[in-house]
Amino acid sequence: FKRLQERLGKTRDAFIYRLDSLFLGKKEIDQDLFEQLEEILITADLGVATTLELIDGARKKVKRDQLSDPQALKAIIRDQILAYIEASEQPAELVMPEEGPFVIMVVGVNGVGKTTTIGKIAAKFVRAGQSVLLVAGDTFRAAAINQLRIWGERVGVEVIAQKPGADPSSVVFDGLEYGTSHNYDVILIDTAGRLHTSVNLMEELKKIKRVIGKKLPGAPHEVMLVLDATTGQNGISQAKLFHEAVGVTGLTLTKLDGTAKGGIVANVCRETKTPVRFIGIGEQIDDLRDFDAREFVEALFA
Ligand code: GDP
Repeated sequence: FKRLQERLGKTRDAFIYRLDSLFLGKKEIDQDLFEQLEEILITADLGVATTLELIDGARKKVKRDQLSDPQALKAIIRDQILAYIEASEQPAELVMPEEGPFVIMVVGVNGVGKTTTIGKIAAKFVRAGQSVLLVAGDTFRAAAINQLRIWGERVGVEVIAQKPGADPSSVVFDGLEYGTSHNYDVILIDTAGRLHTSVNLMEELKKIKRVIGKKLPGAPHEVMLVLDATTGQNGISQAKLFHEAVGVTGLTLTKLDGTAKGGIVANVCRETKTPVRFIGIGEQIDDLRDFDAREFVEALFA
């Protein structure tokens, strides 16, 4: 918990510290307080719509004489942020299939931290005693294949890859073939994320998903979208794009250690209604945490 809190330091400094200062010594809730609050919430990347909804709700309470204590308002903000996050957690945890490998197709735009996240997730499963296979479905960039190989070595797991330029679906097919015949517990599939040809990319991802489902009915069991928390509103547009194409079932938000805008977590949850599985709080192998809404909000506000 301490480590999480420490890694969220930038957001705590910019967002929570400012909230605390705003409420410090306040005796009543006035227009000025609401205006400053709005600015703080938007700066923390809570999003305009989320911020306005939150403030509107509080204003109504004040009007109806249900709210007059500034400290109570602060508690409402915290509770509401938690509520936005919890509303998307259905189900919160990854559920592994009873039989056969657990297939996770990982999608996301280049640079968000997809490969790093795959490496970290692999390490998590290995630590839990599971056998993990990585599949290099991003054949577009030679660097992506190399990156995945490096992570494979680091974690001590096998990587199925072909040459750059190979057909991604065929790599994925081979990977599943190998993974099922060797009884792997978990198969993590990396995919391309070049956004300059987003139409082609989405078609490619749809095809990969179809191939997975054909080879292994019921799979992929998770389509995980990786989002970079430092890109704010952009992440939400990416989520919509990927969701329309391949039906995202879970999210990982990376680089929360590098941003003062941690409010993006609540915003993403509210906008996408998709559960956050993991958060990335650093570049190292164990800098990935299972996401827990309560723990996250506590780490921010405590
Ligand atoms: P990809 O193109 O999406 O596969 O991105 P990479 O996995 O190569 O990551 C891009 C950069 O982001 C690398 O320098 C990673 O070390 C860094 N990165 C990934 N996750 C995190 C994180 O949670 N925190 C920080 N600070 N950096 C991260």
